[in-house]
Amino acid sequence: MDVTRRGFITTTVATAGVAVTPNAQGASHADHDQQALPSDLTLRVKSLESLLVEKGLVDPAALDALVDIYEHKIGPRNGARVVARAWSDPEYKRRLLTDADAAIADLGFVGQQGEHMVVVENTPAIHNMVVCTLCSCYPWPTLGLPPTWYKSAPYRSRAVIDPRGVLREFGLEIPAHVELRVWDSTAEIRYLVLPERPAGSESLDQEALAALVTRDSMIGTGRPLSPGESATP
Ligand code: FE
Repeated sequence: MDVTRRGFITTTVATAGVAVTPNAQGASHADHDQQALPSDLTLRVKSLESLLVEKGLVDPAALDALVDIYEHKIGPRNGARVVARAWSDPEYKRRLLTDADAAIADLGFVGQQGEHMVVVENTPAIHNMVVCTLCSCYPWPTLGLPPTWYKSAPYRSRAVIDPRGVLREFGLEIPAHVELRVWDSTAEIRYLVLPERPAGSESLDQEALAALVTRDSMIGTGRPLSPGESATP
């Protein structure tokens, strides 16, 4: 099959879900520049995926199932259940802070990118935040896939250089008397923040507590909701 570069890019872009004007004849360079092509990385991944599928090495249905699992079934609600359990069960919290892998596995959250977890506890005197300065290491089984900002170069560098400034942009003012600890996730260690239990949540059960736990509160760039407060969209 004769695949021109232009045809290849068009096919690839279409696969990536980006609208492309079908204009195979006489497309000039200027036309190319006006199209919203995805990033090189996206194109490369899509090309690889197309090749693997074309050669029969990968079943597209299996890929779809995998993406669906990480987009819909595994996500920060898992981490929220871990936090809610720790808030309501002191013995579980002790184990979570000393042997996070085992304590998290107790709730069934195991898998890729979830090995060697370390849970760090926020207190009135200490605030923890997590970054991966090198790339985007993140605890998938408890938090799902990382948000775009977590993977961005500005967050990765500024979280270390000016953590208080970064948190301020997230709407989080950390008073000067509170020690700020920044944890650099790696392929070896993934961190999860155990946020402080919100005031007024004493009578809530674990399910209601879990509903207060936001994704950002487990990265350290946000706080849990207060009882009665709803998440901003
Ligand atoms: Fe990384």
